[in-house]
Amino acid sequence: MNRIFGLTRTILYQINYQLSKMTNHQLSILNVSVVIPIKDEVESLPLLLKAISSTLTESKLNYEIICVDDGSSDGSAEFLKEQAQIRTDLKAVILRRNYGQTAAMSAGFHYATAKVIVTLDADLQNDPADIPMLITKLDEGYDLVSGWRQNRQDGALNRLLPSKIANWLIRGATSVYIHDYGCSLKAYRSELVADMNLYGELHRFLPALAYIEGARITEVPVRHHARRFGQSKYGISRTFRVLMDLLTILFMKKFLTRPMHVFGMLGLTSMVSGGGIGIYLTLVKLVFHVDIGNRPLLILAVLLLVTGVQLFCFGLLAELLMRTYHESQGRPIYRVREFVAKNVK
Ligand code: UDP
Ligand code: MG
Repeated sequence: MNRIFGLTRTILYQINYQLSKMTNHQLSILNVSVVIPIKDEVESLPLLLKAISSTLTESKLNYEIICVDDGSSDGSAEFLKEQAQIRTDLKAVILRRNYGQTAAMSAGFHYATAKVIVTLDADLQNDPADIPMLITKLDEGYDLVSGWRQNRQDGALNRLLPSKIANWLIRGATSVYIHDYGCSLKAYRSELVADMNLYGELHRFLPALAYIEGARITEVPVRHHARRFGQSKYGISRTFRVLMDLLTILFMKKFLTRPMHVFGMLGLTSMVSGGGIGIYLTLVKLVFHVDIGNRPLLILAVLLLVTGVQLFCFGLLAELLMRTYHESQGRPIYRVREFVAKNVK
């Protein structure tokens, strides 16, 4: 009898143990999703995955790696698919074609499930060993921690100089005071990126966009290495695209919810000055009987009036578009950090 009891107890214990293991596994909360955009980086990938998993395991972090293949043609996609079948910590997202780094990151954000998201480049220029430090900083209460590359290992004339100028411009224009906007190694709270729409090359403006959303932002110095395999995917032409994106950001920061203030003001100024010149010319014609048909001022008056009306109408349209932008997505024009009340469930 005793033996039967003993056996039953062992069996029940085993079932309980297995069940608890299962629930533990199901409940295991991910600490961090590492998002990596990849275009033709097949040589770096094995080293990169190894470095990330060893650092994060050492730091006792629960993690997932989300590799987004952005239309590679060197076998990166095949490698990732194969690895994702073997490894449980890797998710491979294969895009249909090359959409660019911003879109690839955006896809990664979509698949990320952890509360903290870390982004980095696949070319080993960023050091995965810096990830825990970023997360520790984020834990201090920030929403975004950006890397600041020390001893940058890039060409002086084609990379460092444009980057210095771009950083200076972006800093001045966006009033987000960090040194290195171009560094991909960043850590975010997931709710921050969840409702951020990225277009163009806007990934480098994520701190600025986050700032518009009211995020707390800081930076930490990180390591930087020279590219070991392959080539950079960008040339000098990137500088101009960055500048154009900067204008978009500037506009969004200042006038996203009130476009009429800028267009209406410009339009009105233009119309009033055009109208003023027009009245002056009419007086000259009617009172002094002087011919005004060949006066350049007449052309200026007409130009100012037409431009003014156009700017004004554009402002109205922009107001409508802005309302559609916010309302169609159920996007409020404010962001709440916390809501505290004693009696509300
Ligand atoms: N990348 C991408 N799609 C592209 C271009 C680049 O996903 O169209 C990835 C690339 O594989 C790398 C990261 O974006 O992981 C940064 O690219 P790169 O190293 O060429 O930029 P750099 O470090 O020279 O600024
Ligand atoms: Mg690089």
